Amino acid sequence: MSVENIVGLLGWPTSHSISPIMQNQALKTAGLTNWLYVPMPVRPEPKERIKEAVWGLRALGFKGANVTVPYKEAVVPYLDRLSDEAAQIGAVNTIVVDEHDHLVGHNTDGIGFINDLADHGFLVANKSILILGAGGSARALAYTVLAQKCKHLLILNRTENKASDIAHSLKQKFPESVVEAGPLAKEYLQKNKADLVINTTSLGLPSKPEESPWDSGVAFAQSQVVYDLIYNPAITPFLKQAERSKATTLNGLGMLVHQGAKSFEIWTGLKAPLSVMKSAVFQAVKD
Ligand code: NDP
Repeated sequence: MSVENIVGLLGWPTSHSISPIMQNQALKTAGLTNWLYVPMPVRPEPKERIKEAVWGLRALGFKGANVTVPYKEAVVPYLDRLSDEAAQIGAVNTIVVDEHDHLVGHNTDGIGFINDLADHGFLVANKSILILGAGGSARALAYTVLAQKCKHLLILNRTENKASDIAHSLKQKFPESVVEAGPLAKEYLQKNKADLVINTTSLGLPSKPEESPWDSGVAFAQSQVVYDLIYNPAITPFLKQAERSKATTLNGLGMLVHQGAKSFEIWTGLKAPLSVMKSAVFQAVKD
């Protein structure tokens, strides 16, 4: 059967991504044999390339795309419309070309994270949460945990004013929760009593494999859930530190599956085959 419906991944680079394996397996399982998910590496220079790529989705008859580093915020000005959530977060990880040929931006990172936590029996309502980092994914998570009524949120970042900016805008939207920010410094980590601690920094990625945002002199509590958005490697130095304190640890593989499942549903209108997507990513990271 010929391919009639194409979706893909806009980013730079895209070669490391396992989304094509996961999404193509999902499309096949759902019987969408005339659909295909392709990597679309877009060079950062010259700057207009990403605009051309986004508008190219419509010109070439694509159904949509995922967006990854470094373009989640950069694509926003070139879209016709944003979902409420993407507008609040200010970043897009999913684009759909709708029936009127409009480019609509969504953000499924936050809900992907919440759904993975729910799979592990953790609900954020009334909980105290510490986010390390203040980049695009931190913004999506901060907005979503507050929308899910977490009680207290602290955001710590190397560049403190980025954490303060997020906290400032979210405080106004969610006045019933306490939202604070600070520097990524030992004294702040020592005071940490959060139920859930999340690494959204890039420390621990293959490019920085020995690094962790957590000070090695600070222990976690056994009762804490410690989550790293990074899934490759499966156990980062940050998660090793948490394991030594016997805290519960989770990596970002489940979030990858759930954010991808939501994107799949936005493009196809069908329920995503979650278990197949999970097996595909577990196999891909093992290979
Ligand atoms: P961004 O580039 O937007 O943010 C990176 C963050 O890392 C910033 O807070 C930055 O701090 C911090 N950082 C970078 N270097 C250092 C350092 N040397 N010391 C301290 N902090 C540092 O990235 P994203 O938010 O888009 O992604 C972050 C991570 O989340 C990545 O590892 C990504 O792979 C992962 N991710 C996983 C997903 C999943 O489905 N599992 C989905 C989305 C993201 P500063 O502001 O000071 O520069």
